[in-house]
Amino acid sequence: MNTALYFDELFVEHDTGDSHPEAPARLEKIVHHLRYQKMWHPYLQEITRRATKDELRRIHSAAYVDQIERACQSGLKQLDADTWICEKSYEAAALAAGAGLQAVSAVMNGKFKNAFCIVRPPGHHAEHNKAMGFCLFNNVAIAARELLQVYELNRVMIIDWDVHHGNGTQNVFYDNPHVYYLSIHQWPLYPQTGKLEEVGVEAGIGANKNIPIQAGTSAEDYLDKFKLEIEKSFNYYQPEFVLISAGFDAHVNDPLADLSLQDHDFYEMTQFVCEMAGGSAKGRVVSFLEGGYALTALADSVEAHIRALNSA
Ligand SMILES: [Zn+2]
Repeated sequence: MNTALYFDELFVEHDTGDSHPEAPARLEKIVHHLRYQKMWHPYLQEITRRATKDELRRIHSAAYVDQIERACQSGLKQLDADTWICEKSYEAAALAAGAGLQAVSAVMNGKFKNAFCIVRPPGHHAEHNKAMGFCLFNNVAIAARELLQVYELNRVMIIDWDVHHGNGTQNVFYDNPHVYYLSIHQWPLYPQTGKLEEVGVEAGIGANKNIPIQAGTSAEDYLDKFKLEIEKSFNYYQPEFVLISAGFDAHVNDPLADLSLQDHDFYEMTQFVCEMAGGSAKGRVVSFLEGGYALTALADSVEAHIRALNSA
């Protein structure tokens, strides 16, 4: 078994209100589907810890971490127009970040070849000191920082194929040459960042790559561009570890965007990334669930993602 899955029922208790697209039903559907496909128990690992405040502070300001904790405890329902919380949300978000830390450790120690963290709230829009776009803590960024600080790696690549640009992840590593951030996303679209010319600043120049895709682009054209740019980036950067911000909202059925991918395209993308990661990164890949709002498409695409990870 190559692949570990990380999930906890607490992620379902992160309540975003009655009609929010980032709903608990997303994970319920995924879990139900994976159980039905007999892809659950052999892969499922228990998440044994939350990210500590110190670990969260490696990406977020201390004031922000405390603010989120207090807001959740106070019973506040909404941080901004998009980002809803409940009393369990701080714990769920800290556990989601903890899942990433545990996954990275298991892969670094050779226990698994790769892993997928089936978590919510998602993370890639969360900024240093601001919640945004359904995200509280930036799970993938916290995992990247762990690889640099604890495992002393020098080159970590984050591939973000959620249909929205991961402004939070880009910003926290924008001047950092040790994290290469590559995002392919529909543009223009929320959050409006992620232009081609956003390439990093100072020492980070050249370690930030945006691939904006127009609404209505065919899956074939998307995949051609994806593969070309990923291959160029691997050849140039030679990452030691690969993290994926895996949103599934570029699916043709997704209500929040206008791209045309299907379930099997996510298989192909995952397989391609794993193949590339087989070089300098020794196959080490940890993936995080970000978006994906058409429930059946989401569950089928997640299945394809896991099948490709496990056959890597
Ligand atoms: Zn998204």
